Amino acid sequence: MILSEILQREYQRPVRECTDIEIFAALLKEVYRRSEQKRCTASAKKLYYISAEFLIGKLLSNDMINLGIYDEVKRELSENGRSISAIEELECEPSLGNGGLGRLAACFLDSVATLGLNGDGIGLCYHLGLFRQVFENNTQTTQPDRWLNKFSPLHRTDTVYTVRFRGRELQARMYDINVTGYEGVTNKLHLFDVETADESILGDGISFNKSDIPKNLTLFLYPDDSDEEGRLLRIYQQYLMVSCGAQLILDEVEHKGGDISRLYEHAVIQINDTHPTMMIPELIRLLTERGIEMDEAIRIVSRTCAYTNHTILAEALEKWEVKQLKKVVPQLLPIIEVLDDKVRRLYQDTALHIIDSNERVHMANICIHCCFSVNGVAKLHTDILKNVELHHFYEVYPEKFNNKTNGVTFRRWLMHCNGALSQLITELIGSGWKKDAMQLKRLLDHREDNEVLEALLRIKQQNKTALSDWLKAKQGITVDDSSVFDIQIKRLHEYKRQQMNVLYVIHKYLEIKSGSLPSTPVTVIFGAKAAPAYTIAQDIIHLILCMQQLISEDKDVCRYFNVVMVENYNVTAAEKLIPACDISQQISLASKEASGTGNMKLMLNGAVTLGTEDGANVEIHSLVGDENIYIFGDSSETVVQRYKSGSYRAEDYYSSDPIIKRAVDFITGKELLALGDRKRLERLSAELRGKDWFMTFPDFADYITTRERAYADYADRRKWAEKMLINIANAGYFSSDRTIAEYNRDIWKL
Ligand SMILES: *Cc1c(COP(=O)(O)O)cnc(C)c1O
Repeated sequence: MILSEILQREYQRPVRECTDIEIFAALLKEVYRRSEQKRCTASAKKLYYISAEFLIGKLLSNDMINLGIYDEVKRELSENGRSISAIEELECEPSLGNGGLGRLAACFLDSVATLGLNGDGIGLCYHLGLFRQVFENNTQTTQPDRWLNKFSPLHRTDTVYTVRFRGRELQARMYDINVTGYEGVTNKLHLFDVETADESILGDGISFNKSDIPKNLTLFLYPDDSDEEGRLLRIYQQYLMVSCGAQLILDEVEHKGGDISRLYEHAVIQINDTHPTMMIPELIRLLTERGIEMDEAIRIVSRTCAYTNHTILAEALEKWEVKQLKKVVPQLLPIIEVLDDKVRRLYQDTALHIIDSNERVHMANICIHCCFSVNGVAKLHTDILKNVELHHFYEVYPEKFNNKTNGVTFRRWLMHCNGALSQLITELIGSGWKKDAMQLKRLLDHREDNEVLEALLRIKQQNKTALSDWLKAKQGITVDDSSVFDIQIKRLHEYKRQQMNVLYVIHKYLEIKSGSLPSTPVTVIFGAKAAPAYTIAQDIIHLILCMQQLISEDKDVCRYFNVVMVENYNVTAAEKLIPACDISQQISLASKEASGTGNMKLMLNGAVTLGTEDGANVEIHSLVGDENIYIFGDSSETVVQRYKSGSYRAEDYYSSDPIIKRAVDFITGKELLALGDRKRLERLSAELRGKDWFMTFPDFADYITTRERAYADYADRRKWAEKMLINIANAGYFSSDRTIAEYNRDIWKL
């Protein structure tokens, strides 16, 4: 009777007489009250996880699961003719992240609290978040994502720090979000916001005056950095985050009577990708301000900070010009120069230097020199860091390099998003898996059990129907829930190769038009946002949307084959899509996807992966075996070699392979030009024919064959259900509880 009691206390009324909004507000308050009672009290060493993004998703239901009141509240709601999903609809998803990196940070906070560890997150409070994606005329448009309102989970604190930039000082206030652990403790996510932030400077869409720093500083995550003002704004944001973070950390250590000259005994700072790199010179600066010698300060900070690398894409490894840093944070330059000097004195190799010959500061290089740990996020990724990308560093610091294969929280990505599957698993193997995910292996005892296999198929079908209903309600799109749901959901990037998937769509469309009808109907579903300044990514979205329209209006084809692009892909959408997926597209160019975590969530929900040997797909493959995954394409060694030799010529494939030529030519053929934007379609076609930097053509034939094989196998429902079961049973390794236990064992030592 938890809910009745809460509502009685709050409004002196029974459930039936309360509105959804009243119930929502009362539950938020109750969750806050209960989570405060579980505050972590450990006083030993503390973790600070600093990240530009925290893609936390809606919190209410997950918090209720973690606090052990979800099932009862849900039951009471339905007994009173209400639904938990109607309540969930009232919550806005915090728009504090962009993709996998931010979602990883959120899963990690959940697991840190679940394992009862003392660790808080540090980031920024972006008022308008990333952006909201809206499709108009088959094109992505961008709107501000106004997620802050009176129900937001943020709690204003009295902590205010002064942050000094060149020529100005700003005050930043700390807002806290409680991070509940599953039957664990409550930690905090600290988000800083400048007091002068002002949304009224917003122009059309997401445009704003980029030079009005006091007002614009915390409006958007990743403001457009295609011009100089935008780049400077990013430096402002990064420094705001690290300066507040550093002040908070030193305050907390001093508050508990710790000695800052032994900072590393009280704190460990995990730097998530290079955005928070300035934490290192900033901490050194603060320690020297407090009377510690420079060399000693560097030693202290280097024993406190650890760095996670998330990418080997050269363009994503941040470099700031000395000139730019001087315009925003001149106080850090002398420290960065000392760090660079020390490196130069020890090593001739310019690849190791912090400041290059073009006066650019390599942020990752600061991290690698000044952190005691450098980790990659999947086995293959860490191997590539050691042997190729960061090989020079690995030779100097072999002891720093380590792998921590990513994971996801099973509370959100199974218990919450797929209640029926979660319940079935518990009926079969008990509930121990919720805290010890490796117990999922026990499901293998049931791989021959027809009743279990049928139950798996039934649950998948229910989830597909639920997704269809959701798509109808949100986007007015009708999909055939008896078709194969073949899904690619992730940020739009050429290395992730949505363009290869849409080339397949074109190929399949043409096959069907020429009379080759598929035996099983298929719905290809995409979800992806593209960075506003990333033109080719916008063009790929345009092509997908044009194909969606073309096929939906073609009676010959749409009976068998459809394409749907989900608008504004975010955590809320992911929670609907993932449980409904049959085939999980993980088709990045081998060597380019550091790990992926979408692949893990989908596997856990019984989707079978169609993927390249890349990132954590490699580990999924070795866990489930050849029979339960569809692997295709060139190996990472081949790809790395091909880049090195510069031998790849897209034109050669285009002119010699009629299947490729036919699909690419269709992009600028009359059917699509009648629907789409000539400039976009011609640009994309030229990009593919002339460059194809992420090598879709060499993998294309194998992709088609393997995909057709997966569709054919799908028809044997019993065998497919066994593949599903084997995937679920082997997903335990990808629990972020395992990942966090490893971080703690090898790096944090809390
Ligand atoms: C998990 C997740 C991602 C990461 O997906 P990848 O396929 O690993 O790139 C991105 N966005 C959202 C909303 C997610 O939930």
